[in-house]
Amino acid sequence: MRRSTAVFHPTFAGEGVVRSDDILRDPRYGKNEPHYGMPKDHLPVRSYLAVPVVSRSGEVLGGLFFGHEAPGVFTDEHETLLTGIAGQAAIAIDNARLFQAAQYELAERRRAEEALRDLNHTLEARVAERTAERDRVWKNSRDLLVVIGADGIFRAVNPAWTEILGHAPDEVVGRSFLDFIWPEDAARSQGALDDAVASRDLTNFEDRYTHRDGTPRWISWHTSADGNLVYAYGRDITAEKQQEEALRQTEEALRQAQKMEAVGQLTGGIAHDFNNLLTGIVGSLDLMQMRITQGRTDALERYAKAAMSSAQRAAALTHRLLAFARRQPLQPKTVEVNKLVVSMEDLLRRTLGEAIQMEFVTAGGLWLTRCDPHQLESAILNLAINARDAMPDGGRLIIETCNTHLDRAYAVLHPGVRPGQYVCVAVTDTGTGMPPDVIEHAFEPFFTTKPLGKGTGLGLSMIYGFAQQPEGHARIYSEVGHGTTIKIYLPRFNGAVEEEIEAGGLIDAHRAAGETVLVVEDEPVVRDLIVEVLKDLGYRALEATDGPSGLKILQSRQRIDLLVTDVGLPGMNGRQLADQGRDHRPDLKVLFITGYAENAAVASGFLDHGMEMITKPFAVEALAARIRDMIEQ
Ligand code: ADP
Ligand code: MG
Repeated sequence: MRRSTAVFHPTFAGEGVVRSDDILRDPRYGKNEPHYGMPKDHLPVRSYLAVPVVSRSGEVLGGLFFGHEAPGVFTDEHETLLTGIAGQAAIAIDNARLFQAAQYELAERRRAEEALRDLNHTLEARVAERTAERDRVWKNSRDLLVVIGADGIFRAVNPAWTEILGHAPDEVVGRSFLDFIWPEDAARSQGALDDAVASRDLTNFEDRYTHRDGTPRWISWHTSADGNLVYAYGRDITAEKQQEEALRQTEEALRQAQKMEAVGQLTGGIAHDFNNLLTGIVGSLDLMQMRITQGRTDALERYAKAAMSSAQRAAALTHRLLAFARRQPLQPKTVEVNKLVVSMEDLLRRTLGEAIQMEFVTAGGLWLTRCDPHQLESAILNLAINARDAMPDGGRLIIETCNTHLDRAYAVLHPGVRPGQYVCVAVTDTGTGMPPDVIEHAFEPFFTTKPLGKGTGLGLSMIYGFAQQPEGHARIYSEVGHGTTIKIYLPRFNGAVEEEIEAGGLIDAHRAAGETVLVVEDEPVVRDLIVEVLKDLGYRALEATDGPSGLKILQSRQRIDLLVTDVGLPGMNGRQLADQGRDHRPDLKVLFITGYAENAAVASGFLDHGMEMITKPFAVEALAARIRDMIEQ
């Protein structure tokens, strides 16, 4: 059986076509085994033909090998045929290679294209996203976004404009900012726009724009310029501005209140000294009067009364000064303000004269309040006198009362005012009115615009002090040429009207046997007065000028039924004297005398059992009654 074999050997180095008719005799293969050079498992080969496969480029791609077990099988024809086949194979391989390369290139390009497309998508998506974001910001921004030209014409405004300033964007675009700016801010804003155009970017530039409703809105601007356009970002700061303003006003009011407080304390100091004097004058006159009544003398009575009335006026002044300084121990009573106001009608009419018409507008169901009724009367009288002075050619005076509620917002603007219910007394005139700088100072003590000898400048300051005392409030509303309203607010009192206690008549001289009173007072006039009263009442009087000498007497074996002592004493105060005196005499009764509540503890009810207090200036009758009551208890 004849068999041939053919293989393609890719690593064939290429020595051209090789033909051997019998490799056993061929000197090129003579020493070879018939298998030599053949792939494994091939038949033994005697005839042999090898044809190289060469690419167009000249590269030997491999070779075709044909073998047969019989010698002399391959002819020239075989050789031609097989060389042709090898050529075809080379072409095929070349083509295959080209195709492969082309494929690769194609794939490569596809990948690149894809990558590019991806990239494109990403970029496009991002741009779209950014645009959407920008649109969203533009539409939804709560702040103003504005494009404005160097010419001041709006190129674009976002919808926030409507929200903040009332106009729709298309009513704004194409028009000048000057059509919308708050007139007072026009020049300043034009300057700012010029700066912004010149790339001097604005930061927190504040101006006002006019809302469609005609009111101003504060806007704070940031800008950046690009060519002839300015991009501006504006925040509505109207609310902040209002708060700032409220705060400023509050601070101003607080400053004012503090100043008043300081001056008030000063006035209080003056009043204290003055008070001691008055006590002497009033008391002496009182005694004179009593003597006259008892028939001891007679010609003095008229003078005594005249002196008395002027002294009392002076005392009332002190009283009011002290009220202003808020040092006067309170003598509050439940007051029906309507009743009090109406009862003053006669007095007021006489004070005002005929050129002034008077009107009362009293509210029904008016609440009660607690205050010193005499001070309220003098406050109203003072207001009426001021009104009269402001209406030299006549006019109208209206006194109104009403219930009112001061709310939290009001309290914020007026420090010291507690929100709550108040009884309000308003005194209005149709007079000259006050300019703002007079309003600002009118409550200050000694502030007056009246000629020397006419005004004291104390009327309104006393009213202010009086209203402050029960934690009330006073306020001026005035317009030059129109008139003035002054309102006094007194806190509502939730309670009933007290029974009126009628003042008793002149006290009969009380003759007691051996009852002894120790008087400790550093002011000789006052001390003498008290001693005089005691003697009149039939008591024995012991005197001391200060705490330590008073204490010595208390520590002695002397009979003492009552200690009458000033609170403000040099060295040791009245309360300390009383306390140390009680170490020896536990049941010692004590009557304190105070010019004002130097000792707040004494004034505000820290009086122990068997201790009482009387305030200077006092009427002799009142002192006598207190002394007698205390000793007889
Ligand atoms: P006086 O009346 O002694 O000047 P006041 O304290 O009562 O002192 O008033 C202070 C100032 O306030 C007055 O001098 C006046 O300028 C002004 N004033 C007070 N009440 C009125 C009023 N009803 N109309 C106009 N101005 C007033
Ligand atoms: Mg006055």
